[in-house]
Amino acid sequence: MTTKTADAATNPATCDDAPLLAVRDLRVTYRQGDHDVPAVRGVDFSLAPGDTLGIAGESGCGKSTMALSLLRLQDRGAEVTGEVLYRGENLLTTRWVRLRAVRWAGASVVFQGAMSALNPVRTVLDQIAEPIVLHDKVRRREAARRATELLDRVGIAARRARSYPHELSGGQRQRVMIAMALACRPDLIIADEPTTALDVMVQAQILELLAETVRESRIAVMMITHDLSLLAHTCDRLAVMYAGRIVELGPSRQVLQQPEHPYTRALSRAFPTIGDPASRRAPAGLPGDPPRPSETGTGCDFAARCPEVLPVCRTEEMRLWPAGPDRHAACVRVLPHHGGKA
Ligand code: ADP
Ligand code: MG
Repeated sequence: MTTKTADAATNPATCDDAPLLAVRDLRVTYRQGDHDVPAVRGVDFSLAPGDTLGIAGESGCGKSTMALSLLRLQDRGAEVTGEVLYRGENLLTTRWVRLRAVRWAGASVVFQGAMSALNPVRTVLDQIAEPIVLHDKVRRREAARRATELLDRVGIAARRARSYPHELSGGQRQRVMIAMALACRPDLIIADEPTTALDVMVQAQILELLAETVRESRIAVMMITHDLSLLAHTCDRLAVMYAGRIVELGPSRQVLQQPEHPYTRALSRAFPTIGDPASRRAPAGLPGDPPRPSETGTGCDFAARCPEVLPVCRTEEMRLWPAGPDRHAACVRVLPHHGGKA
């Protein structure tokens, strides 16, 4: 899809600021018995400090695999190629000790099901203070003070700081996870469906909180959910993934209001209500399923479900073509000879 060059002029997802994270031609293949599962098939994007990028797409499109592989957290046995440049250093090849340092203090992750990651027998204050003591080498009292401040920032009052996880609601526990992600002052947070288990209003509040906090601190965020409209409200830019590739990329509002890719159009119609859990499994107006990684092949991966399919879609290799200022889409319709504007 996108170019493999590191040249800012040709990499569609490069921002003007020096990138904090530059991902180039990232590919992740799971080995399953005697066959390969190409879950991520050539992803390129960049994040500048303070950028908020939303990643949307139905279940199985490779979002989690992509996010995990950025910090080499993917399943053992998965093959990862390409480049993940964090401040210019390739995390895919860097030494283990360097990678640990980045995971510790550079990039934080809030994962799907992160709530179960909280220790049930320790207060939330202790759990947030601990990494501060270890990493910043400060005394417990100072770490506790900072942990209380962080909890306050995410809307948990000081009197609740000594609660155990089970004494808090699901929304509060997720706020704790965000405070924990912020504890060592990372410059990048990767959040994979951090709110999916929560009710709709709480989801929107938590994502808004995360987006606000990071904007204030110039932390970059990559936020993943299947819900396009929820992301569009909280992130500056959106990348839509389909079958292991980014098929559309651009400023959130534009992507949501004037989608260039028929998949994005279908996806935005499929989630008319912010955070509607019912639309997750059976998105309205988007019949069928994405192809399994083993079923991807020639032509556009969305052709089989596309209401606007052309004969060329079944034969031509799609790339993430320019589709206007700041916009990219992997659909032949954006090409001039198909009536597009690029
Ligand atoms: P998403 O997060 O968008 O739902 P995933 O990254 O979880 O997508 O999955 C992408 C594809 O990779 C799916 O087809 C899934 O079945 C497959 N997959 C995910 N994890 C593994 C694994 N550990 N081994 C083999 N296949 C996997
Ligand atoms: Mg996932």
